[in-house]
Amino acid sequence: MPGGIKADVKTYQMFINGEWVTSQSAKTFPVYDPSTEEVIAQVPDANAEDVNRAVTAAKTAFEEGPWGSTTAQERGRVLFRMAEKVRQNLPALAELECRNTGKPIVEAEYDLTDVATCFEYYGGLATKITGHVNPVPDNALSLSLREPVGVAGQIIPWNYPMLMAAWKLAPAIAAGCTCVLKPAEQTPLTALEFAQHLADCGLPPGVINIVTGFGETCGAPLVQHPDVNKIAFTGSAAVGKIIVKQAADTVKRVTLELGGKSPNIFFADADFEAAIDGALFGVFINQGEVCSAGSRILVQKSIYKNFVDAMTEKAKKIKLGPPLERETKMGPLVSKEQYERVNEYLKIGKQEAKLASGGGRPDKFAKGYYVQPTIFYDVKNSDRIAREEIFGPVAAVIPFDDEKDAMKIANDSPYGLAAAVWTRDIFKAMRAVKALRAGIVWVNHMQPTYVEAPWGGFKQSGFGRELGPWGIEEYLETKQVHINLNEAPIGWY
Ligand code: NAP
Ligand code: MG
Repeated sequence: MPGGIKADVKTYQMFINGEWVTSQSAKTFPVYDPSTEEVIAQVPDANAEDVNRAVTAAKTAFEEGPWGSTTAQERGRVLFRMAEKVRQNLPALAELECRNTGKPIVEAEYDLTDVATCFEYYGGLATKITGHVNPVPDNALSLSLREPVGVAGQIIPWNYPMLMAAWKLAPAIAAGCTCVLKPAEQTPLTALEFAQHLADCGLPPGVINIVTGFGETCGAPLVQHPDVNKIAFTGSAAVGKIIVKQAADTVKRVTLELGGKSPNIFFADADFEAAIDGALFGVFINQGEVCSAGSRILVQKSIYKNFVDAMTEKAKKIKLGPPLERETKMGPLVSKEQYERVNEYLKIGKQEAKLASGGGRPDKFAKGYYVQPTIFYDVKNSDRIAREEIFGPVAAVIPFDDEKDAMKIANDSPYGLAAAVWTRDIFKAMRAVKALRAGIVWVNHMQPTYVEAPWGGFKQSGFGRELGPWGIEEYLETKQVHINLNEAPIGWY
């Protein structure tokens, strides 16, 4: 069959108003396994009419359904049940995530555990949303009440499909919003599989809707829809800029979690072995398809040569393999498009800098979008491979002289998502923490992310914060209430 389509490929429907439906156009599009390049599913190709159906369901559920009178305690319990469903179905969901994204199964299992933890965290937070009494200078009681923002449109990328869905759905549900979620075109499967459990968790129809489709034909109508009150977007900076413009006509609230070109900075006094590990982990985890990837590796000149040699030596030992094998540390990239994009950058890198290791496709795979862990060194911070987000396993190693030089190079980027600094000098570390213009700064580590702590970027890495109490703020309105305690007339006339 064409395109490697197998007869047993599952055709999914999407989830709108508690029902499984096809697109009104009846069109579908294929979803692939990037390790075999084969089609593994077909999903509905949602258009503006389908989006309208989902938004109407979400609006009705918000304004007229039982969801509006569901207590915070009950919303919390719904989220605990969602966490429980994830844990019960974790092996199957992790396997599906692994097949659809190409990420190693062990990492997919971590992701799904984090998904459950995220639902639990916001389940607990649902009952902690409180208002405020304002000390106004009058005989009155002034209150600030927190209320759900309404219908949330949520648009997510393909690198952590189920985790990105959880980061958006969990605070929205805790706050009492209703949702229309658009997964990335490449990776809609785990969200769809999980949706079959939503009714059992106690979610009324229309509270969570999932529409599968493409950015221009499904994402854009969601952003432009007048009944959507907020857009939560995670994706590239290029699309983020389009989203802000599209949202302007209806004055929507927007939060953007965009890309990065994050510096991972190594001073000469850092623990050398830990530093090498941290440099490799920081940039090659999840095949480098990580928004906070430490893709600019800044190394102090006095250790620079040894550092590049040691990194190169260790990078050669990273096990690339089929994502379902438990020993695999790196699988294929998510799609043909991403594979081609990364390969373009490999060509650019070879012109701009020196290649220490990798630089192409590993020989051992006949199929699959595999790319070797690649290290370029003697990179200038003005090179394209140091300025543009590659979103693949490509490290740009840049030498620096001293602390001042390191901070200058680190901050010289349009992005500001994350940064890491490695040193055993507490004063140097703390000066770096203050100097770095990034939403997340790690010291002697890179990448750990916790649902309890805020996530988001400075500069062109976006605005708004997810996770922790910050995440729920983005789904809440503030209503001021003034209660006059004077019974007498105002006496204005
Ligand atoms: P992308 O191309 O920007 O797409 C993200 C989402 O936006 C997808 O669902 C996409 O649909 C949709 N979209 C595309 N064009 C749109 C439009 N005109 N209107 C509305 N929606 C539209 O990003 P990606 O390639 O999926 O993911 C990689 C990017 O995500 C990287 O830049 C990475 O840094 C970023 N990211 C950031 C974070 C963070 O927390 N800061 C986390 C993960 C990823 P399609 O699927 O059809 O393209
Ligand atoms: Mg895309």
